[in-house]
Parts: sequence; structure tokens; C-alpha cells
Amino acid sequence: MRIGYLSGKMEVVENPNKGGKAVMAKHLIRKDELVAIWGGFIVNYQQLRELTEEEQGHTVQVSDDFFLAPLTMDEPADFINHSCDPNCGVQGQIILVAMRDIQLGEEVTFDYAMTDSSPFDEFDCGCASPYCRGKVTRDDWKLPDLWQRYEGYFSTYLGNRISKFRRSID
Ligand SMILES: [Zn+2]
Repeated sequence: MRIGYLSGKMEVVENPNKGGKAVMAKHLIRKDELVAIWGGFIVNYQQLRELTEEEQGHTVQVSDDFFLAPLTMDEPADFINHSCDPNCGVQGQIILVAMRDIQLGEEVTFDYAMTDSSPFDEFDCGCASPYCRGKVTRDDWKLPDLWQRYEGYFSTYLGNRISKFRRSID
């Protein structure tokens, strides 16, 4: 049984370079088209830390204190990788949409800075895009460059937090 949803225009492929799998577009995807809906079960940070590293890698933060953790490790929507120059963004907390047109054969990606602000999934990034930050951290949502590039595509709880943060530094 599938818990989440991945658009039928996508497919999961093996991706040895990134150590695991990746999601590719098998058809042209139009800007703002729905790409995936993440599913899982809700945990707090303490419960999250009791999960395996692999499970934590398939977890997405959905509020200041809560996370959506995987029920199984073969959920197609959970194989969408990070990029520092992504083609998808977040709507609400669990829906991924195309931020621009995505071509057939292109890897489908989002920026973990759009969802995560806790230290459970920080890593060195080798996405090789001109925007690559080298390291993906819990504090990346504070980067003004990302506010501009991802406006309207941060997870709702982070969008709200960014608005407050911006008011506090103005
Ligand atoms: Zn990168």
C-alpha cells in the first residue's frame, strides 16, 4: 500500500552516485503542477532521533516541533533528492509542486532548506549547481538569497517563521 503520492509522470530510478535512488520526470511537467504528496506518521524530535539514519533521511519536518516519518522505506515520493538549485518547491507542508517547467529526463529535486530547520539531516552537498552551498544545514532558511529564489515555496511553518525573522531584523 502506498501512503504518499507520486505523480504518474515521474519514475524512481537507481542513483548510485547519490547513494540510493532518484526521481526523474518521464514527461514534461508544467510550472506549479503537483509532483508529490508526502505521507507517513508524525513524530516529535525526540522520537525522530530514535529512528535509524535511513529513516531520518526519509523524514520531512512539517512544523517547528513535528516531523513526518516514513512507514516504509520504499515510498516513491521519499526518493526525491535535495538540490541547491531545485525545480520543485513546497505548498503547505506535504505537497511538492514544480517551481518551473521540468523537462523529460530531468531529475526532480527540492531544497531541504524549504522544509527542514532541525539538525537531523545536515550533510555535505555535491549537487554541483552554481548555487551549491557545499553544506546543507538547519539554518539555511535564514539565507536572504533563498527567500528571494523560493518565495512562496517554503513549507508554511518556515514561511511564517521567515516573515517574523525578517520583521525582527528590519
Ligand atoms: Zn548543493
